[in-house]
Amino acid sequence: MYCKKCGTDIGDAKFCPSCGEKAPAEVAPKQEFSGKTVNKIAYGIIAILIGGLGIHRFYAGRWLSGIMYLLFCWTCIPSLLGLIEGIIALTRPDDGYGNIPVRDGEYFV
Ligand SMILES: [Zn+2]
Repeated sequence: MYCKKCGTDIGDAKFCPSCGEKAPAEVAPKQEFSGKTVNKIAYGIIAILIGGLGIHRFYAGRWLSGIMYLLFCWTCIPSLLGLIEGIIALTRPDDGYGNIPVRDGEYFV
């Protein structure tokens, strides 16, 4: 192991012998996304085909925008947004199980 402050090889020591910096903690396990995920293919297809009704927004747990899509479905704008969202979702890398994370603060999945 190397000191993250000065780069000295400190082996298994708890503190760096040359600068006293605490040794870095054991490598943390890869951070799993703990929030909500949706099936990428299902989300993409729903968004493209019936995105104008906001179904994919409900599917992703975004009720507020889902209701807005539903209210404004007659304007065709939600359909356009759904198409874009579907394409974006389908191009997102999944987690290996076909799921993509739904991140808070991001409009698109
Ligand atoms: Zn050091």
